[in-house]
Amino acid sequence: MRKILVAGNWKMHGSKAMTETLVTGILAGINNNDHVDIAVFPPSPYLAQVESLAAGSSLNWGAQDVNPNTQGAHTGEIDCSMLRNFGCSMVLVGHSERRANYADTDELVAEKFAAALAAYLVPVLCVGESLQERQEGRTMEVINRQIDAVLDRTGVTGFTDAILAYEPVWAIGTGQTASPGQAQEIHANIRTKFAVMNDTISGQMRILYGGSVNGSNAAELFAQTDIDGGLIGGASLKSEDFLAIYNAIQR
Ligand code: PEP
Repeated sequence: MRKILVAGNWKMHGSKAMTETLVTGILAGINNNDHVDIAVFPPSPYLAQVESLAAGSSLNWGAQDVNPNTQGAHTGEIDCSMLRNFGCSMVLVGHSERRANYADTDELVAEKFAAALAAYLVPVLCVGESLQERQEGRTMEVINRQIDAVLDRTGVTGFTDAILAYEPVWAIGTGQTASPGQAQEIHANIRTKFAVMNDTISGQMRILYGGSVNGSNAAELFAQTDIDGGLIGGASLKSEDFLAIYNAIQR
């Protein structure tokens, strides 16, 4: 059975005080639940603090983005080895905010994904359509394009340990969640796409849902057959809200 993952993307929110309060609160509320993994993605300056607070616990952490190059003349950038150095086990690649505002093309996202794999970091590949693309009936076309760019680079085996996050852009930070049925339909389509290439990888791959998940809608979303947890933005910034989602897991 696939293990549910509840992952918190803090985006560009935080301070040392907030990191301490949030991580301490999360650590106080998690248990050794065999069916649920939990992770946080703080802004990179707080990775060291998260590492020292969470070391030895079952809380995982990762970064929100990475530069695909190895160390060198890349002012302002962070490479995979630095993330490993601070105990990261995962990294987000292709979040819609990076695709829309920071020129993360499908090809660049694929490079980041491949660099993460090479550094033994688990890439969490974010995909999803805009409202206009959905209204034009192009949801799967967009998602296929985003996934195919990575497949072209790594092949299907690149997804052996990777995680996918379906995040409809229209649901991110808007309070407008995809219905459990809408999300399940897309997740099932994604899984079927992989099943055609490799049944084992398709069966084991975790596909998270992201977009205005909170303590009230999480249980129904995560009860869907092909939804294996959530990537949480706004509701990951307070431990009570984040733990309400963690505690909503039924399986
Ligand atoms: C996200 O940023 O990945 C996200 C899902 O945000 P929110 O939960 O705030 O919609």
